[in-house]
Amino acid sequence: MQTKPSKIVITAGPTREPLDPVRYISNFSTGAMGYALAAEAEAEGFDVCLITGPVALSAPLGVRKIDVTTAEEMLKAVEQEIEGSCCVIMAAAVCDFRPVKASVQKIRKTGGRLRVELEENPDIIASIGRREGLLKIGFALETRKAVRSALEKLQRKQLDLIVVNEISGANDPFGEGKKDFLIMGCSGERDEYKALTKRELAAEIVRRVRKKKGDDG
Ligand code: C5P
Repeated sequence: MQTKPSKIVITAGPTREPLDPVRYISNFSTGAMGYALAAEAEAEGFDVCLITGPVALSAPLGVRKIDVTTAEEMLKAVEQEIEGSCCVIMAAAVCDFRPVKASVQKIRKTGGRLRVELEENPDIIASIGRREGLLKIGFALETRKAVRSALEKLQRKQLDLIVVNEISGANDPFGEGKKDFLIMGCSGERDEYKALTKRELAAEIVRRVRKKKGDDG
């Protein structure tokens, strides 16, 4: 008898937080990492649900895709899909802030400054908390003190693994190409990877998911 494949939830891309009907706050995420993870996990036999912000990529074959725009929508989709999953990988670049109120009408120029008040979005992966049988993997994009900051996130968000990308002169984490990464685990493990493509990194992450789930062989 065939066993049901383990379900894995992967988020990808940026979120967009509307200012008015035609403008939004967002970031430079291309979705490349989340989509590479989805392709790799699918190829490795997982039942993949990809929850994605707006990007210019097509979902890998065999992957179920849910489109979202805002962080609130991403949170709802993750909460719905997490039941029965063995792992959640938050590769999305969730906007930390959103305008307190999106204007119903297009905001007009008034010849001076525009003040926009922002409030914090919910932290999706932190809000999930610890759950029996659920592996939580996050990403940290840092411009300084990368290790210290990622360690703090690993603990505060109760993650099993965190993948660290540092933005430095030579290492631009956005889009395709070879990048340097650091993977840190909740048991103190710390491994550096030099010049990996996102697909190669995805393979390493999925290998670790398998290992932690104990179904390697
Ligand atoms: O933005 P930050 O560096 O805190 O992101 C670290 C991890 O937390 C990432 O995996 C990101 O997807 C996740 N995150 C989240 N909800 C947020 C912000 C970040 O789940 N509001």
